[in-house]
Amino acid sequence: MATENGNFKKIISHAKEYGFVFPSSEIYDGLSAVYDYGQNGVALKKNIRDYWWKSMTQLHENIVGIDAAIFMHPTTWKASGHVDAFNDPLIDNKVSKKRYRADVLVEEYVAKIETKIEKEVARAAKRFGNSFDENEFKKTNPRVISYIEKSRNILSRLNKSLGKEDLNDVKNLIEELEISCPESGSKEWTDVKQFNLMFDTKLGASKDSAMDLYLRPETAQGIFVNFLNVQKTSRMKIPFGIAQTGKAFRNEIVARQFIFRMREFEQMEMQFFIPPGTQKKWYEFWKEKRLKWHLSLGMGEEKYRLHNHEKLAHYADAALDIEFRFPFGFKELEGIHSRTNYDLSNHEQFSGKKLQYFDPEINESYVPYVIETSIGLDRMFLAVLSNSLTEEKLSDGSIRTVLKLPPALSPIKVAILPLVKKDGLPEIAKKIINELKLDITSIYDEKDAVGRRYRRQDAIGTPFCITIDHQTLDDKTVTLRNRDSMKQERIKIEHIKNYINEEVSLRSILKKL
Ligand code: ATP
Repeated sequence: MATENGNFKKIISHAKEYGFVFPSSEIYDGLSAVYDYGQNGVALKKNIRDYWWKSMTQLHENIVGIDAAIFMHPTTWKASGHVDAFNDPLIDNKVSKKRYRADVLVEEYVAKIETKIEKEVARAAKRFGNSFDENEFKKTNPRVISYIEKSRNILSRLNKSLGKEDLNDVKNLIEELEISCPESGSKEWTDVKQFNLMFDTKLGASKDSAMDLYLRPETAQGIFVNFLNVQKTSRMKIPFGIAQTGKAFRNEIVARQFIFRMREFEQMEMQFFIPPGTQKKWYEFWKEKRLKWHLSLGMGEEKYRLHNHEKLAHYADAALDIEFRFPFGFKELEGIHSRTNYDLSNHEQFSGKKLQYFDPEINESYVPYVIETSIGLDRMFLAVLSNSLTEEKLSDGSIRTVLKLPPALSPIKVAILPLVKKDGLPEIAKKIINELKLDITSIYDEKDAVGRRYRRQDAIGTPFCITIDHQTLDDKTVTLRNRDSMKQERIKIEHIKNYINEEVSLRSILKKL
């Protein structure tokens, strides 16, 4: 239910109220598109990062990790093409003076047509019941056909114009579609201009010797420039991969939608080095692998969609997005890119150093090709959070707010609750938590009635609560309450650790991969 459009505000306020995400420097009224993670957010984020990291480095003998610096030699960004080509087309509305990404304005127009298609499909599905065939309907219904054709034509023209850098045509398209400013409703637009997204800064104290630097706009280049260092010291044979997680910075023109589009964000990227000519095979391989990673979280197959790129970035010969159904529609969550040998070759050229691999099997050296998987940690966080926030109507008419996080990602796995603050129950509870906390993130709570304590844990997504009551004194059993089903069962204290671990460990999802 939280994935419906109108509930996005609820997700943002829930994130703040329960210590997941705060606006940055809020006492100074915040900083646009910059956010801080609170006590629960940092734990959820770390668990997502760990899931990714372990799935890459621990489950693959031929993938290792690195942690490169955010600052890199400025020539890196010339070689990578970011100085010349890391631009977004921007347009200003003359009345509201608001700045937009021209391509996003057009894409949002197309998204509205897609919503119309979805509505037609839903209506027909209701009408035809079990005999409804969605594919057949889309192929034969005249209104849907015309919507699909219209969307396709608009996107194809946008991609062509952007590909040719024909910014006048992008403006013409916006005017022809009569797109108006979401703020002012005005259709008066400036010309479209290119805008480089990199933040620049200076390194060094003295004015003369200071060097212009960029904050990295992606983590990938730290991997490329270390390719030979890692290959030689790890004695890896191709195919092999290098994984990295870390901060990236982009001066986004339109920074809306909470942590979906930030100016400072974290990426989880893996570059997989392969022999030239094998890119199609490995591209398919990583597409399947990454989809499986997402699906193993159990958030529902229907929440994901693949989008093949028609307009390719300057470095790619094939690219697709794994899109997720965010509260504001399907949007890119992860990119899989076949980057050819573009980056390594350019670094060779700009640095004058060889970045080649000697392949003992064919007795030849070559610049490897690369398949990249690149996912935004914050976007993944938003996907998980928005998908998990649920409001349930209980039989007594009250509403239960519960964050149905995949248990392996929950910030806290178990809450230990003595029923009352006397009769030796807190002492037993503390003994249990002191043992559990060595392996499992646990929390102790003795304030308020136990029902309210359950609700507090529901709201932050704690999968299990354990209540110590008077029966515990007699038979060393406790009540274990399940977050999702709210079912309660009695288990022996000595079984708690194994029982919970089985359900909440990363192992439980890693073994599905
Ligand atoms: P978009 O089209 O949404 O701007 P992109 O295609 O520029 O994204 P990539 O350069 O492929 O994104 O970056 C890889 C991943 O990094 C994206 O799939 C996304 O999850 C994440 N990402 C990119 N930009 C941002 C941002 N400004 N804020 C948060 N995450 C981001």
